[in-house]
Amino acid sequence: MRAPLTADIEADVCIVGAGFTGLWTAFHLKELDPSLRIVVLEREFAGYGASGRNAGWLSPLVPGNRRVFSRSSGGREAGIHLQRRMLEAVDEVLEIISAEQIEAAAIRSGNVVVARNEAAMNRLRSRLEGDRAWGFRPDEGIELSAEGVSERIAVAGAVGGLFYPTVARIDPGGLVRGLAEAVERRGVVIHEGSPVETIEAGIARSAAGSVRARAVLRCTEGYSVDVARDPRRIIPINSSIVITDPLPESVWAEIGWGGKELFSDAAHVFSYSQRTDDGRILLGGRGNPYRFGSGTGGDGRVDRATVDSLVSRIRAMFPATDGHGIAHAWSGVLGVTRDWCASVMFDPGSGVGHAQGYAGHGVTSSYLAAKTLAERVVGSRGGDAALPWAGRQTRSWEPEPIRWLGVHAMYRLFAFADWAEERSHARRTSLFASIGSRLAGLHE
Ligand SMILES: Cc1cc2nc3c(=O)[nH]c(=O)nc-3n(C[C@H](O)[C@H](O)[C@H](O)COP(=O)(O)OP(=O)(O)OC[C@H]3O[C@@H](n4cnc5c(N)ncnc54)[C@H](O)[C@@H]3O)c2cc1C
Repeated sequence: MRAPLTADIEADVCIVGAGFTGLWTAFHLKELDPSLRIVVLEREFAGYGASGRNAGWLSPLVPGNRRVFSRSSGGREAGIHLQRRMLEAVDEVLEIISAEQIEAAAIRSGNVVVARNEAAMNRLRSRLEGDRAWGFRPDEGIELSAEGVSERIAVAGAVGGLFYPTVARIDPGGLVRGLAEAVERRGVVIHEGSPVETIEAGIARSAAGSVRARAVLRCTEGYSVDVARDPRRIIPINSSIVITDPLPESVWAEIGWGGKELFSDAAHVFSYSQRTDDGRILLGGRGNPYRFGSGTGGDGRVDRATVDSLVSRIRAMFPATDGHGIAHAWSGVLGVTRDWCASVMFDPGSGVGHAQGYAGHGVTSSYLAAKTLAERVVGSRGGDAALPWAGRQTRSWEPEPIRWLGVHAMYRLFAFADWAEERSHARRTSLFASIGSRLAGLHE
């Protein structure tokens, strides 16, 4: 554990939160101006939050709705540019991992998205059309037949899918630890065990000391409720993961998955999965999506119902795993804004800023949003400082209990839509899912 803050000190920039966003912001700031004195204050330890608990998808998925971003600023061209920058950002992160010799087990395995009914397959075809319209080149997203899916991964009931070859996977713990060391090598000071109580213009205060700085940046994502100026602008949504015991070769002979592709299904209740290097299946999804009053669930214990629901998905998609045990389960929180789109803010007058709201797609986008934030801090207005998430303020979430009811109702609608589509062998997306998407503003 790194030393906590124990005195009042001064810096040029103070960053609150040592997850990917805080650490990438420090990294980019040092690239832009190596002379900057930067202090990072972390309540627990670097990587305690979602950055140390995620599934490691280094994906070019834009964190939010490309249409909404393009309306915020710059029009359609800006939305396409954001998508292209996300695709490039995957390469940039991989290059930094290699240059900094970070042990993050990075491989570009690609992502297979699988449809298990015709309605889902039709959605995937529209998704691919949308991706191409928003800047994907033809070889960056490819339709797979049912055979094309099963040649890669034998998923029960697969009727087809998509393959995104650009997507890479990393060990998130390895990346966050390596990044913390990389910024320390550049002179950044990280204080762990240092909970910030308030952020104001020019100062971040904790009980044991404060940091005076001309820029104070909040990088607390799903944990922002305690420290954000307006805590209703972002809420924590839970994501949970279960992982099986190592599976024997006989099981892998049935499932295949030799390319270790990242795998997701096209159901409305999203789940993501992978074959780990040590021969297990890891599967994540939402479970209990939201705790009343924006609770963050602390150390990441997972309730029984969530574990059971995630395990049942493994069994349904990979029946050969029946009878094999589950080794671990954990959860974390991701930050979601009211329109499910990321936002980067920096007010040069007060020096206060933040980057947040990746809605579960933060491994690549935290790198790029942190670049926007860092460039804004040093006064740039072009390049990545001008990406359309910069300066966009989202409206507040509703007060409780409407918030709890709304989020749970949306997930219920999605679960019901999955059930209805499966039961009726539907060819078209259920009306319930369309209502849920519109409620959340997810449709493009
Ligand atoms: C289970 C799970 C799986 C996921 N899988 C993926 C994936 O495969 N691909 C993907 O792109 N995204 C994924 N995500 C999302 C991704 O992990 C996050 O978007 C990303 O890590 C956010 O990084 P961050 O630095 O903004 O937030 P965090 O990593 O949550 O960091 C915030 C930090 O701020 C600290 N903090 C909070 N309050 C204070 C305070 N008052 N004072 C000081 N410090 C404070 C916290 O302790 C924490 O370390 C997943 C998320 C979860 C939970």
